[in-house]
Amino acid sequence: MQHILEAIQSGASGDDIAALTIPESYRAAFVLREETGMFEGMASADKDPRKSLHVDEIATPELAPDEVYLAVMASSINFNTVWTSIFEPLPTFGFLDRLARESEIAKRHSQPFHVVGSDASGVVLRVGEAVRNWKPGDRVTVHCNHVDSQDHSAHNDSMLANNQRIWGFETNYGGLADLSVVKANQLMPKPTHLSWEEAAVNALCNSTSYRMLVSENGANMKQGDSVLVWGATGGIGGYAVQYVLNGGGTPIGVVSSAERAQLLNDMGVEAVIDRKAEGYQFWSDEHTQDESEWRRFGKKIRELTGEDPDIVFEHPGRSTMGASVFAVKRGGTVVTCAATSGYMVEFDNRHFWMKLKKLISSHFANYEEAWAANKLIDQGRIHPIMSDVFTLDQVGEATLAMHHNQAEGKLGVLCLAPEEGQGIDDAEKRDRIGEDNITRFRTR
Ligand code: NAP
Repeated sequence: MQHILEAIQSGASGDDIAALTIPESYRAAFVLREETGMFEGMASADKDPRKSLHVDEIATPELAPDEVYLAVMASSINFNTVWTSIFEPLPTFGFLDRLARESEIAKRHSQPFHVVGSDASGVVLRVGEAVRNWKPGDRVTVHCNHVDSQDHSAHNDSMLANNQRIWGFETNYGGLADLSVVKANQLMPKPTHLSWEEAAVNALCNSTSYRMLVSENGANMKQGDSVLVWGATGGIGGYAVQYVLNGGGTPIGVVSSAERAQLLNDMGVEAVIDRKAEGYQFWSDEHTQDESEWRRFGKKIRELTGEDPDIVFEHPGRSTMGASVFAVKRGGTVVTCAATSGYMVEFDNRHFWMKLKKLISSHFANYEEAWAANKLIDQGRIHPIMSDVFTLDQVGEATLAMHHNQAEGKLGVLCLAPEEGQGIDDAEKRDRIGEDNITRFRTR
């Protein structure tokens, strides 16, 4: 891949890039099918992604007509990399095998390895013969919604497509690699003021938060709404609070340390709850929730903002869903996209129906939503929340940090980019948007 990196760094033209040889193999981070049983019987927290994630050469797959080869300059760690690497709730090879049954070209996806990663920034190297809007040399970011445009069900909201998948989680050849195959309808222009790694960390979490809060497919937040955000300095939470501030609402950010509370204050969030310091015990034992703790939590929110939240941005799942449904205001909306602490959730239905509350499920974002979220990054209205940067060889370490809730915001990963800070196309715009805004999480 060295000749590709040199061409990109020297500012080679699109024609020159189109003439570069695509290597027969490339470096990638993957889990192995033969190792899916390696953590059997262990507690989740003890499953170590450094043992299951490997970085090595894999054979370059064939290109489908609607795909591009992408030189991946940088990528990021997402929670789905944690799930894949600890083989929970189930190994991801079943997803790849199912995809492989869909068509001749899809057979590529079923392999002894699964290349992970659902974010990327990079440069288009080659386009398949059916690709219209992109060309070699284009500098792009990638969203992870993998849809089959020939399926009728993909043509209202593509997240409702029968065979909608997340690239790099439910497909092979993901972004934690030096090269990737990506559908043309996953591409978006790279924000011009950001480095490769700053541009790579946004798409998955930023688009997810956009759909959950801003889109009419989600909570459809209005100006003036108060929004409780769990994990408010985490991957999706760190974008969610920005959407609330940007949209004229009042965020109430929940975090688990004084440092994270300070980070929220620095972002302009005034109402902050340190859940650790408050010591909430929503579950008194494995089977029983404690309504008095829900009440104590609700009272704290009222003390901070004078009202119950219009929207709760929910993702921890089992540990918090009961409290979220209780705390949201009469007629308000809980919007959920995940269940980090457990997916068998429980809430008191009496509080739900008697107060006419709503529960909305959300999952990633369609192309239009991802595009809108990317545009807001490009305009400098929403900022990357990258707190640290790793090399591809350190992918296991980075995934472990996320698994153990030790990282704020997003973790960037350098793939082909040899060092941080490269790829900024518009330094003047960067100055205008402000280094402090762009690197707020990075400098801590
Ligand atoms: P993250 O960066 O690890 O952040 C999660 C935050 O949640 C943490 O910072 C933590 O904040 C908080 N948290 C963790 N366990 C908690 C608990 N038991 N109770 C209360 N808060 C808890 O992860 P992320 O990228 O934001 O992702 C969060 C979840 O959303 C993951 O399960 C991920 O798989 C899912 N997700 C789903 C989609 C989708 O499209 N459906 C997209 C992105 C992410 P504090 O400790 O500071 O409170």
